[in-house]
Amino acid sequence: DDTVARIAAGEVVERPASAVKELVENSLDADAESVDVAVEAGGTELVRVADDGRGMSEADLRAAVRQHTTSKIESLEDLESGVATLGFRGEALHTIGSVSRTTIRSRPRADSRDSGTGSGGEADVGTELVYEGGEVVSVEPTGCPEGTVVEVEDLFYNTPARRKFLKTTATEFAHVNRVVTRYALANPDVAVSLSHDGREVFATTGQGDLQAAVLAVYGREVASSMIPVDVDEQLPPGPLESVTGVVSHPETNRSSREYLATYVNGRAVTADAIREGIMGAYGTQLGGDRYPFAVLFHEVPGDAVDVNVHPRKREVRFDDDDAVRRQVDAAVESALLEHGL
Ligand code: ADP
Ligand code: MG
Repeated sequence: DDTVARIAAGEVVERPASAVKELVENSLDADAESVDVAVEAGGTELVRVADDGRGMSEADLRAAVRQHTTSKIESLEDLESGVATLGFRGEALHTIGSVSRTTIRSRPRADSRDSGTGSGGEADVGTELVYEGGEVVSVEPTGCPEGTVVEVEDLFYNTPARRKFLKTTATEFAHVNRVVTRYALANPDVAVSLSHDGREVFATTGQGDLQAAVLAVYGREVASSMIPVDVDEQLPPGPLESVTGVVSHPETNRSSREYLATYVNGRAVTADAIREGIMGAYGTQLGGDRYPFAVLFHEVPGDAVDVNVHPRKREVRFDDDDAVRRQVDAAVESALLEHGL
C-alpha cells in the first residue's frame, strides 16, 4: 500500500540531510573523484548531488530505483564479513524517490563500459530517469558527462505530515552542512563541494591531506590551530586499536558540539563515549560550554561496536563504553600535552 510505503519512507528519510547522506555515500561508493552537493532552501526545494563516478547504464538506472536492489552485495559472505561499501540495503534511491520528484542523469565511465555485454557504442550518451512518488515517469537518452547527477525536488511533497516536521531553512541547511562536512573531512582525496542557494559554502581540492581538507572546510584560523593526534600502542586498555586525526587548540574552541567530526572504522558516527573522552581531555581548559574542533578516526575490531542502534542514525555504542572514553581521553590528552597544553 502506497500510504504505508510513504510512512516507512518518512522513517528512513527524515529530512533533506538524510537524502544528502545517502546520495553522497552512493557517489563515494561509485569511486567518484569529485562530489558536488548543491541545495536550495536548506534542501527542502532541491538537493542535487553530482559525481564523476562509475555511472550507470539505462538498465542499471532502472534497477537502481527498484526496492531492495543493490549492486553492492554479491554473496552471503559479503554480508557476514561486514560490507565494505557504505550502502548495502538497496533502498535509498527507491525511498527518496517515493517522497519526492527525483531526476537521475547518468552515464557510465568509459573505462567501465567494456566489462558489460560488449555491445559498445550505446553508452556514448547517458540516460535520464524521472521518478516521482515512487513511479518511474520517464526514461530517456540524454547527453551528459560521465558520472551521475541526482536531483531531488520537493522532498515530502506527497507526505505533508512529514513536511510539517521540517525546521527552518537555516536549521535544515545546518544538518546538510554537517553531513557534507563529515564526508569531506574523511575523504581528503575526493574533491567535495557544498553550495546553498547558489553560493559556495566550501570546496575541498581532493588533492590534499586531512589538514588541507580542514583548511577548506573550516578556514585558516581553525586549520592553523589544529594539533595532530596519532596514538595506537600507548592507548590504555580497551577495544580501540588506534585514535588518529586532529583536535583544536583550546583558544579556537567554539560553542557548538557540531564541530566534533568522529569516525569509527571509517564511518561517520556519533558516540557518547567518544564525545565524552574528547571533552574530558580538555578538562578545565574549556570555559563555559565551548567545544573543540575535532576530526578523529577510531579503529576498532568489528565485534566491539554496535552500529545498529538504529540503522539510519549515526549513533554507535561500544560493548565497553567506559574503556573507550578513557582511551579517547588519553589519546587527546597526550596530543595536547605534547603541545604544552
Ligand atoms: P545501495 O547504495 O544500498 O546499494 P541505493 O538505493 O542507494 O542502494 O542505490 C542502488 C544502486 O544504484 C546502487 O547499488 C548502485 O549500483 C547504484 N547507484 C546509486 N547511486 C549511484 C551513483 N552515484 N553512481 C553509480 N551508481 C549508483
Ligand atoms: Mg546507497
